[in-house]
Amino acid sequence: MSSGYRRREGDAEIIRSVCWSPPGCHGGCGVLLRVRGGRLVDVEGDRDNRHNDGRMCPRGRNVAQAMYHPQRLTHPLIRVGARGENRWRRAGFDEAADLVARRLLEIRQRFGPESVIFCKGTARDVGAWLPRLAWSFGSPNYFGLGPGNGNACYRPRVALSTAVLGGLPLPDLGEFATPPGVYRTPRTLLVWGSNPVVSNPDGLFGGWVTDRLRDGAELVVVDPQKTGAAARARHWLRLRPGSDGALALGMIRELFHAGLVDEAFCRDWILGLEALRTAAEPYTPERTAELTGVDAAALTEAARFLGWARPFPLVWGVSVDMNPGCLGTIHGLLALVALTGSLETPGGNVLQGSPFGVLRRGDEAAAFPEVQSPRLGAGRYPLLETGNPYAQPDVLLDQMETGQPYPIKAAWLQGTGIVPSSFADPGRVLRLFGTLDFMVMVDVFLNPAAVALADVILPAAMYPEKDSLYVHFAQLGTINRAVDPPGECRSDAEIVLAVGRRVAPHRFPWKDAGEWIEERLKPSGLTFAELRERGSQVPPLEYGKHESGRLRGDGAPGFATPSAKVELDSPALRAMGLASTPHYHDYMGDYRHQYGVQNYPYILTSGSRRPYYFGSEHRNLPALRRRQPEPLADLHPDTAAQAGVGDGDPVRVYSPFGSCLMRARVSDRFAPGIVHCDSGWWFPEREAAAPELFGVRRSNVNELLPSGLQGPGGFGYPFRCFVCNLEAAAPE
Ligand code: SF4
Repeated sequence: MSSGYRRREGDAEIIRSVCWSPPGCHGGCGVLLRVRGGRLVDVEGDRDNRHNDGRMCPRGRNVAQAMYHPQRLTHPLIRVGARGENRWRRAGFDEAADLVARRLLEIRQRFGPESVIFCKGTARDVGAWLPRLAWSFGSPNYFGLGPGNGNACYRPRVALSTAVLGGLPLPDLGEFATPPGVYRTPRTLLVWGSNPVVSNPDGLFGGWVTDRLRDGAELVVVDPQKTGAAARARHWLRLRPGSDGALALGMIRELFHAGLVDEAFCRDWILGLEALRTAAEPYTPERTAELTGVDAAALTEAARFLGWARPFPLVWGVSVDMNPGCLGTIHGLLALVALTGSLETPGGNVLQGSPFGVLRRGDEAAAFPEVQSPRLGAGRYPLLETGNPYAQPDVLLDQMETGQPYPIKAAWLQGTGIVPSSFADPGRVLRLFGTLDFMVMVDVFLNPAAVALADVILPAAMYPEKDSLYVHFAQLGTINRAVDPPGECRSDAEIVLAVGRRVAPHRFPWKDAGEWIEERLKPSGLTFAELRERGSQVPPLEYGKHESGRLRGDGAPGFATPSAKVELDSPALRAMGLASTPHYHDYMGDYRHQYGVQNYPYILTSGSRRPYYFGSEHRNLPALRRRQPEPLADLHPDTAAQAGVGDGDPVRVYSPFGSCLMRARVSDRFAPGIVHCDSGWWFPEREAAAPELFGVRRSNVNELLPSGLQGPGGFGYPFRCFVCNLEAAAPE
């Protein structure tokens, strides 16, 4: 049967869908799934989906290898040996769900609902479903991104932007629906700490950047790495890792001094212009050059170019969040955007709600009276309550250690592995999670944390095996089941619903996940079947919402802040005990002083994206692993020579806290003195049982970082700037 979303082609059926991890990334690329005999045989990009216009990445192309992988989890597993022994018995889904519900209810009865934490990883549609389970269970402790130290991925940007601007500004790269002739290609893009074509960061398809370049836009790139974007930028500012806040202030100062700010926008819509000017004044080009390593003249030229070429979209990456000084940097970048009037204007940055009113993140805790106690970290870090209000992971670890003010006894981890990514000091994390009375994981493969810690594992369906929604700012689409999931795999919604009906039936009234999906879709006025037939919908974009009163709940003109302005000197931040203006602190200088430059002469940075891997996914797929078999340490030739290491040599990178093994890649990608290590590595081909745990502690760059380095406000962590040394390692 042919319809808008499926058609026959010879002996195959082609089903239109949307790619969303697992496996893949945040993406949302439109795909055409080719099915023959009930099996996915190929996937190609959907040219009718405006999001990606037919383009795909190697991860997306190899989805079938993940689906039919011999180590795929296909049935629930219940642990029979000790934790870490990797001994399980296969169980039916209902038996496993009964056990999970019974254990969670027992723990709630004894220790209270707040003693159970609920965590999802990045990407996947889990965020739409899991919060409801946490809230209806009565736990305030939901971790929407990881969890990971300092909530150092996306959350800092969302929290700070919400506090001073009323929401997260999105770069307007032409991805929204605007009337013909309204969108204007910007003269330049500001790409800060992002490699968009490789990473396709959350909700931003990297191809949009290349599209705008094709239309004539230029690039200002701020990045310590010579990325593809940096190589073709008009201005590439190669800053020292962790010095972003200083560079932003230096650029702000230059805009003021050159008279290149948008006077009208500053007059009408900025609170704290003079305080900002004062904060930026010490950052002369010469001083900024000293702090950042960026040539003073290059800084001046780039800042002036931005001021001249305004408005510009800001494409920023998680590297901004992954420093303890992230709040100062983020505030500085928002100041650059606001000073140049690059807000709510074509080709600038826009504040957009959920597409067609369909919520991206599921239910809010406030609607659930079952939640009685404050979330972890709320008292100590009040900014946590702004933006996406998730619990604070560093406070979680400390509380697991002390049991005060209440014990943490159980964890639900769905699509997040804790190790190898997310957390510094993986040994401590494994030890603390190992003290839990009960842990359930929902995933697609057995992974290190599952073997080390889980009591029950529930197998999840991959995106071609389920019906769901893709909800992101610039797209509302359906994920369409093309083939049956193997064994007893269920969609993430089905898994949450199954356990939810057992622990809080009145909160889960839907007879199946399909009904729950329909409920979520209601604000759009479409049913699932209607949306599926129409294909992905791109929401309309209206500019100038701050002038038309479309940003505030009261309908008055202005931004959704107390002053109705962009607060570059923020009373709210000051009231929370945080710096109220953009600012910079030299954390790297602190670490060097504390641990000794002579012992640790290099700057460690990590986490740059690779095209073949997303987080800790994909290491077990031969087609991708072949492209990069091992984790790499990128070294400049001068650094390699100084350390006595050659290209391709095994190296041990170490800090006062731990070490990791990498393969040296010697090139000029990074400046001398910087060591970049890949992150997220484990080795699915290695022994699963402890202590090996798939080699997760062998090449784990997070071993080099200690606990307790979260930044002010509980945000940010030095994943991108710490001290290290390196030496040649013996070949294995
Ligand atoms: S970029 Fe992400 S969403 Fe797009 S094909 Fe690749 S993995 Fe899938």
